[in-house]
Amino acid sequence: MNIIEIKDLVIDYGIVRAVKGVNLNVKKGTIVALLGSNGAGKTSLIRSVSGATKVKSGEILFNGVDIKNIEPYKIAGMGVKQSPEGRMILNGLTVEENLLVGAYTVPKKRIPELLQSVYTYFPRLQERRKQQASTLSGGEQQMLSIGRALMGEPEVLLLDEPSLGLAPLIVKDIFEIIIKIRDAGKTILIVEQNALQTLKIADYAYILELGKIVSEGKGQDLVKDESLINAYLG
Ligand code: ATP
Repeated sequence: MNIIEIKDLVIDYGIVRAVKGVNLNVKKGTIVALLGSNGAGKTSLIRSVSGATKVKSGEILFNGVDIKNIEPYKIAGMGVKQSPEGRMILNGLTVEENLLVGAYTVPKKRIPELLQSVYTYFPRLQERRKQQASTLSGGEQQMLSIGRALMGEPEVLLLDEPSLGLAPLIVKDIFEIIIKIRDAGKTILIVEQNALQTLKIADYAYILELGKIVSEGKGQDLVKDESLINAYLG
């Protein structure tokens, strides 16, 4: 079953057409990656799903309902949560307070269980729960950003460049946790520059170039396609 269906999506910034009629599907319980070079339109596309970027035309169906151009907080309330590029940690708060901010839409009695599940994915956040978020390392801040999105019990988790600026070993940790989150039944749409590593964890991937999809397929198949990787992902 497709939890997200994007049809003929067009996004313009003034006279610049950033996304030029994209069609894509995300099956429930899978990791789907959007890859491509700088300026391909990946961020525009994922931000249109969270409502942060306005769409000119087309459809974005979430469980069959068109969520195109709906306000971001309403989309989040429906179950689509973004862990944004740049992480957006609230520096004046502790780690745990940041996590609690992510739970603002869920019933209070669910919070202890959700916190425990985030701490099971990210033991480092539990160790640092009383620490000011501003003192976390880059990798820990990324974990906090994902954890905060999970506190809202999303059906779909949107990740915009979770590996950005992180050391390879931390990227490996975070990607392993993304697999665990998928295995727990969540659906993940991920934008990444780090194409090879992402293809290894993606159930399905779309390659964008200048606002159009130029290739798509299972991650494990695309990762072996040298000419594709050299042409678009090198
Ligand atoms: P990157 O990885 O560099 O962020 P991307 O694939 O995510 O690239 P987008 O950020 O979606 O690509 O950008 C797609 C195109 O839209 C680019 O040509 C970019 O310059 C343009 N663009 C993006 N945001 C804006 C904006 N706010 N105003 C004008 N043009 C924009």
